[in-house]
Amino acid sequence: MAETFSDANGSLLYAAENGSVEGVKMALKAGAHIDFDHVYSQSVSSGTALYNASMLGHVDVVKLLLRKGASVAKRIKSSFTPLHAAAYEGLTEVVDLLVQHGATVDVRDGFQNTPLMAACGHNYVDTVRRLLELGARPYLTHGYLDERALESSRPSLKLIEEVKKTKLLRCCNPKCGKPGYRKTLKLCGRCKLTRYCSRDCQIQHWSVGHKKCCGHDVYSDDPAFKLYKSMAETMMACAHAK
Ligand SMILES: [Zn+2]
Ligand SMILES: [Zn+2]
Repeated sequence: MAETFSDANGSLLYAAENGSVEGVKMALKAGAHIDFDHVYSQSVSSGTALYNASMLGHVDVVKLLLRKGASVAKRIKSSFTPLHAAAYEGLTEVVDLLVQHGATVDVRDGFQNTPLMAACGHNYVDTVRRLLELGARPYLTHGYLDERALESSRPSLKLIEEVKKTKLLRCCNPKCGKPGYRKTLKLCGRCKLTRYCSRDCQIQHWSVGHKKCCGHDVYSDDPAFKLYKSMAETMMACAHAK
């Protein structure tokens, strides 16, 4: 079924991109779907209002959309979540808001990259630090971190290495964040991506938003994405062969 691009939905995206709180309120009142994503093709979409406001650092719009129940798990067609977009741009305040509303810190994009890797790749040290405090696993796959990027990301990498050495992880309930060892923190049995110091922390995190994210954090390859990924991998292989 073709997606319709009603005026209300279009206005919502426009207002979110332009940081207009009033515009977002009006569009929602006019019946816009809060998680509307304009799909252009199998591999390209506009991203939701929350995705765009997160990427552009419109903090007040992000707050409003989260309050209204926007999905922190819904991905743009190129596979980023709002948390990846905010981390990629080094927008620490937005990163924090998204995680406080249930976004999974170790959510993966189609290349298995986490928001921590996105922030590290551009050496946003404050964002890297905050993600680690929020329980991101101090571990990287070097998806898009080529050697030059690694050089310029040294301060971020140092932080990650320090956390790795302590062998301490953190409770993924953002209201808690208590450090603990792998053995003492219990994994969410369903997604196996979040871990908690206690049953209470798990229940609290579930109710602030993990309920909506659990199970949506591992990217499942659709055919369009597979094509996109193989093209990107070919390009990377060519660049390395030079
Ligand atoms: Zn806890
Ligand atoms: Zn879970």
